Amino acid sequence: MRVALPVPLPRLFDYAAPGGSTAGPGDVGRRVRVPFGPRELVGVVAEVGPADDATQALRTALEWLDDGPLLQGELAASLRWLARYTHAPLGEVLATALPAALRRGEPLPDTHAWAWQLTEAGRTALPGLKAGGRPHRLATLLAPQARDEDALDLALVGWRTPARTLATRGFAERFAVPASQLAPAPQAGPPLHAEQQRAVDAVAACSGFAALLLDGVTGSGKTEVYLQAIADCLARGRQALVLVPEIGLTPQTLARFRARLGVPVHALHSGLGDGERARVWTAAARGEARVIVGTRSSVFVPLPDAGLIVVDEEHDGSYKQQDGIRYHARDFALVRAKALDVPVLLGSATPSLESLQNAVSGRYAHLRLTRRAGAAKPPAVRVLDVRKRPLEAGLSPESLAAISAALAAGGQVLVFKNRRGYAPVLLCHDCGWSAHCPRCSTAEHPHPMTVHAGGRRLQCHHCGHRASAPPACPDCASLGLQPQGVGTERIEELLAARFADVPVLRIDRGSTRRRYALEGLFGTLGDAPGILIGTQMLAKGHDLPNLTLVCVVGIDEGLFSADFRAGEKLAQLLIQVAGRAGRADRPGTVLLQTHHPEHPLLLTLISGGYHAFAATELAQREAAGFPPFAPLALLRAESQQAQPPMAFLQAARRVLAPHAGRDAQGMPTLLLDGPVVAPMPRRAGVYRAQLLIACDQRPRLHAILDAALPDIYALPEARRARWSLDVDPVDLY
Ligand code: ADP
Ligand code: ZN
Ligand code: ZN
Repeated sequence: MRVALPVPLPRLFDYAAPGGSTAGPGDVGRRVRVPFGPRELVGVVAEVGPADDATQALRTALEWLDDGPLLQGELAASLRWLARYTHAPLGEVLATALPAALRRGEPLPDTHAWAWQLTEAGRTALPGLKAGGRPHRLATLLAPQARDEDALDLALVGWRTPARTLATRGFAERFAVPASQLAPAPQAGPPLHAEQQRAVDAVAACSGFAALLLDGVTGSGKTEVYLQAIADCLARGRQALVLVPEIGLTPQTLARFRARLGVPVHALHSGLGDGERARVWTAAARGEARVIVGTRSSVFVPLPDAGLIVVDEEHDGSYKQQDGIRYHARDFALVRAKALDVPVLLGSATPSLESLQNAVSGRYAHLRLTRRAGAAKPPAVRVLDVRKRPLEAGLSPESLAAISAALAAGGQVLVFKNRRGYAPVLLCHDCGWSAHCPRCSTAEHPHPMTVHAGGRRLQCHHCGHRASAPPACPDCASLGLQPQGVGTERIEELLAARFADVPVLRIDRGSTRRRYALEGLFGTLGDAPGILIGTQMLAKGHDLPNLTLVCVVGIDEGLFSADFRAGEKLAQLLIQVAGRAGRADRPGTVLLQTHHPEHPLLLTLISGGYHAFAATELAQREAAGFPPFAPLALLRAESQQAQPPMAFLQAARRVLAPHAGRDAQGMPTLLLDGPVVAPMPRRAGVYRAQLLIACDQRPRLHAILDAALPDIYALPEARRARWSLDVDPVDLY
């Protein structure tokens, strides 16, 4: 039998079945433990039959890890497709698709749910616990009755830590309950408005595979459409998978799904332990999990009774896996929906240009929600020209006045700055020295350290390197070291001093490591006047009905980036951030500060909205031969030394170049750009370079890669650099 193993070699490995048995067709998809060199690996049987090379002595697999195939049917076929599409070894693709615990060879877990109850000791101790503390609050919740973990998610934010505290003291214990007992009675949603109803009907009318783009402005009620479509799917006895972006999976979202659907909703995200992830995966495989809501890797759950796949915020960058097997969860969701013959609903207020083009060309049904639901009005957007204006921590006098007025009117304010820390650069005003990361800089490309803690600490946002800020300039001993530019901490410092009577909360990766911490922060804000300062973590997620003003500070970096997707990303970010304002009955205002008020992107976006921007941008992409009109692939290489990545990519270029040809119009069918150093030429001590491969057609791109890759694997230079291929790269620069 041939086994797919998680090793970076483009082949399968021959083994004899364990224990003298003979592998049959029913063993394909079973996990097996095998010897591999001096190590043992967990693999998946990919093919059965006699060994390719009968002259070699066959090693024998050590043991079967499952009674039957773990990866089978549609999922197994789709994963083989993914391996071909990414040109990656099947064994690595299968390992990526399995939850970590199963990848390590652990047995399939029990799929019951868990509940918590107080012990006798806990009941006795309850009056003695510190009143108002989280252990006390949890114990009080559990005193009248045991509660399952889904219910605890709804009842007490961040309950897991106090639960562990109570358990170690013997005051509470966890016990298994059947998942089917957990279903709460479903709550009715608001009556759908006409556009929502049309969208729900369009999904219901699909008798098999169909791709539908739900293109609805922020707050138009897309989630209500998902909920109704999922309810219909459940009523037909089918499973639904909902993909959400990393920051979109808030306890608020989960609570909404759980309250409305009347079946247990299984969540899958990076905040769960390995055991829990394997449990959800297995529950899906057994058909017990009816609704799975999860982030990127949930696209790999087995769906034996699939009825619907939803991809919320389908444009979101977190759907693209940026290392290892570089899959795109939205794109793979489409492949799976097709193989499962079920509809896939892609939703966004700012659809990716790929999906919009598919909708425009008629490949996807285009469902529009053009108005906000309920009483909410679209926010008024104003561009603030800040040229020659005195700025304080990056804020113009007009912005500060608007913040003051919004707070006085009882509203909440969001100040958006896509740069965390105090300032992006520490500069010596006397000699021009600036602080650079020693692990991410080269002589030609110094990489600045971000200033934190009001100027006392330095941190590299790419490798995490930390240092304290020098008291004096290391080059000229001057004391004139100055933080240059503005980050969220600096804005927080100013606003906390200026508006001392309201809460000022900073939300970025520095202030909130955990999902639940974020929810706690929102809890402290409540509905009272206050200010939130944040990075793009705030562009999506928790709904703040009382938010009436959004100030966008410093978007100008994004206007002049070399990345061909920079305009798209900036337009999406601006629309999404602006969409946070005026979500309920109070009208919202958005102020966009810029030094480039005449920039075409801003003009188009303000006057015509996202769709006008998208039409212009798509025309430019088509003229330039960029995605979605022509496919790209990126060959990346890296090494501890500067030379090997370049040497490898030059050799790879020599392998690829002979595949170039001309089409009927005499235009080149293959363009090779590079090798060049990566946009960050060195990161965490590793030198990086890249070669861009552009092709006129997707089938041709894959044919060329199929033909060239065996030779690229065999290059002697390939052994001196770590390399990877990224088909449909998202970040080129
Ligand atoms: P989106 O997902 O498009 O941002 P949501 O589904 O979250 O929008 O809806 C935004 C707000 O409008 C929510 O508070 C939701 O409860 C409300 N809403 C949605 N649909 C309706 C409707 N048909 N009638 C009244 N309120 C609605
Ligand atoms: Zn100096
Ligand atoms: Zn660094």
